[in-house]
Amino acid sequence: MWPLLAAYGIVTIMSGIFLLPITGTFGMAIGLIGALMVVTSIFVSPPTPEQPDDKSKKYCSYCIAEIDKNEKICPLCEIEQI
Ligand SMILES: [Zn+2]
Repeated sequence: MWPLLAAYGIVTIMSGIFLLPITGTFGMAIGLIGALMVVTSIFVSPPTPEQPDDKSKKYCSYCIAEIDKNEKICPLCEIEQI
């Protein structure tokens, strides 16, 4: 269950209903997308941001290697960290 996606889906359905008398088929398509979002949100979980298990580590912003949090330059690709 992904509540945020469900909320967005409901909002999309509502705008679809609102657009239906104005645009006809287009509003129906929007509503259908909203319904699809709600259905999808039931089966999927919210995405968890990529974080290393070790709190003293982080991922290199370039090569995604696990490096020390205090590292200014990645030892693998030698790219400066932002
Ligand atoms: Zn790197």
